[in-house]
Amino acid sequence: MPTPCVRAPVVEGEETRQALAERGLLDGDREIDVEDGEIFVPVVDGDAARAAGYDVVEREAAEREGHTPPAEVLGFEPSYERLGDVVILDEDDPERARAIADAVVESDVPCGTVVNRASKVAGEYRVREWDVLHGTDTETVHREYGHEFRLDIAEVYFSPRLATERHRVVEQVAAGERVVDMFAGVGPFAVPMAARGAEVLACDVNPAAIRYLRENAERNGVADRVTALEGDVRETTAEYADWADRVVMNLPHSAEEFLDTAVRLAGDDCVLHLYDIQHEDDPFGPGERAIRAAAEPEGYEVEVLTRREVRSYAPHEVNVCLDVRIRRA
Ligand code: SAM
Repeated sequence: MPTPCVRAPVVEGEETRQALAERGLLDGDREIDVEDGEIFVPVVDGDAARAAGYDVVEREAAEREGHTPPAEVLGFEPSYERLGDVVILDEDDPERARAIADAVVESDVPCGTVVNRASKVAGEYRVREWDVLHGTDTETVHREYGHEFRLDIAEVYFSPRLATERHRVVEQVAAGERVVDMFAGVGPFAVPMAARGAEVLACDVNPAAIRYLRENAERNGVADRVTALEGDVRETTAEYADWADRVVMNLPHSAEEFLDTAVRLAGDDCVLHLYDIQHEDDPFGPGERAIRAAAEPEGYEVEVLTRREVRSYAPHEVNVCLDVRIRRA
C-alpha cells in the first residue's frame, strides 16, 4: 500500500529524519529508502508534513521487521537528536529520560551512548553538562553534509540542529576566498568552506575544539587550506588585518563585542555572517546597528544582504543571522 514519504536530497537525509522525528511525523514502522540521490522518509501524516513545508510523495515503503521502535515500548514518540552514535535527550524529568534511554537502547536506533542535557550551554567554551544514561563514551564521529567531525560533547560545542543553516552559508563560498571563522569550534563551517576551495583561518579559544578542528581538517582532506589559531580571536589574528573576504561570527549573545575585530580582519569588500539572539520584536535591529557602528567609522558602506531567522531559541527570543556586505567606499 502506498505510504506518504518525505523526499529530500540524500545529503540532508539524517537531518530530515531527525526533524520529522522531533515533529512526531516519522513513521518508524516503515523502511527509509534511497534512490537516485534522494531519500524517502515514511511519515505518519502526509498532510501535516506537507503543511510543514516538506516535499511529500506517495510510494511503497516496506515494513521494518524484527525491531521494536522506542515509541512502541514507551507508548509515545520520544524526541531525541543523534550526533554520530550519541543519542541526545532534552528531558526535565529524570524518570522520563531514563525510560526513553532504555527504550532507545532496546530498539534498533544505532547508539553507543545516551545522554540527557544537564545544564544550559555555558561558559566561554559554550559547553554543556550531560547526564550519561547509557554507555560511557561522549566522543563520537558525526557526519554533516558529507563531512566527518570527531568531537566530544563533554569538551566542545556542537549543535546538529544548525546543519541546514551552516550549509546555507557554506554554499555562498567561492574557491579562492579568504575566510575567517572567528568562533570555529570543531570546524563545521571551516572544513566544508575549505572543501569548496577557500583558504580558512579558523579560531577558537577552547584547546579541545582546536585539537578536534585540526583532526577534522585532516580527516576531510583540507588541512592544507585550514589554519587553526588557538586563543582569543581578538589577540591571535593580529597578523591578518585587511585579509578576509568573508568572516563568520557564530557566538550568539556576545558576537557584537567582537565586531571591531571582524572589521579589522575585513578586506576592502567583505561579507560578515553575524549570529545573534534577540527578542522577536526586533530580531535584526541590534545586530545591524552594531555592524554600522563598527564599520562605518572605518570607511565602509554597509549593505544587509539577508536577514534570516535560524530557529526559535526561547519564548520570544530568536536565533538569527545577518549576512552583511561591507565595502570600502
Ligand atoms: N562555529 C562552531 C559551530 O557552529 O559548531 C562553534 C560555535 S560555538 C557557539 C562558539 C565557539 O566560540 C566555542 O567553541 C568557543 O570556545 C569559542 N569562543 C568563545 N570565545 C572566544 C574567543 N574570545 N575567541 C575565540 N573563540 C571563542
